[in-house]
Amino acid sequence: MPTSTPKRILIVEDEQAIADTLIYALSSSGYQPEHVDLAQLALARLQCEEFALAIFDVGLPDGNGFDLCRQLRRFSNLPVIFLTAHGDEIDRIVGLEIGADDYVTKPFSPREVVARVGVILRRLTVVVDAQFHTASAFELDSAAGRIRYCGKLLDLTRYEFLLLKLLIEHPERIFSREQLLERIWNDPSEVFDRTVDTHIKTLRAKLRAMEPGQDAIRTHRGLGYSLQSS
Ligand code: CA
Repeated sequence: MPTSTPKRILIVEDEQAIADTLIYALSSSGYQPEHVDLAQLALARLQCEEFALAIFDVGLPDGNGFDLCRQLRRFSNLPVIFLTAHGDEIDRIVGLEIGADDYVTKPFSPREVVARVGVILRRLTVVVDAQFHTASAFELDSAAGRIRYCGKLLDLTRYEFLLLKLLIEHPERIFSREQLLERIWNDPSEVFDRTVDTHIKTLRAKLRAMEPGQDAIRTHRGLGYSLQSS
């Protein structure tokens, strides 16, 4: 449950009745919902204001939620939940591929949405609350561009750092190679298929050199990589 300062949630939805339902459900659970009905308005507010999470309708009058999420991902890791009208497999996969944290299919129960918001925010609190982000044995100091592992400073290349940082910030979340390429490498067209694997391999070697027998990075066959949270 939210604590003293209510967490602000941005709802981007053009159907007023759905927005009202969400506003009511989130307010009742102690959150502070804000509502806009256009993608452009949402983007403007996301660039200037602090939110804890955003809920994007996929079909918006001036664009779609997927494009909005892609634009958001250029400057923010804010958690995003999609509201999809179709619920088909394509929407779900597209949504998760472009960096959404979860999705809900219309018609949905407002309680379900609130529950999913709570799960994502609790998961995030673990890593965001402290000055140093910690996922199990890692201490991430983003400002200084440093990561400590079991108390020891890692000597990482730029891409190894960005890769490990992303995994630490999203413990247990599985990232596909494509997602990692898109988030970390500026121009994915100029990197090779094996770029991600190669960097994961060198990263693992550096972690193992410090803590033999431990393997913090998990490989999920056919899906991608994740970081163990404990
Ligand atoms: Ca809509």
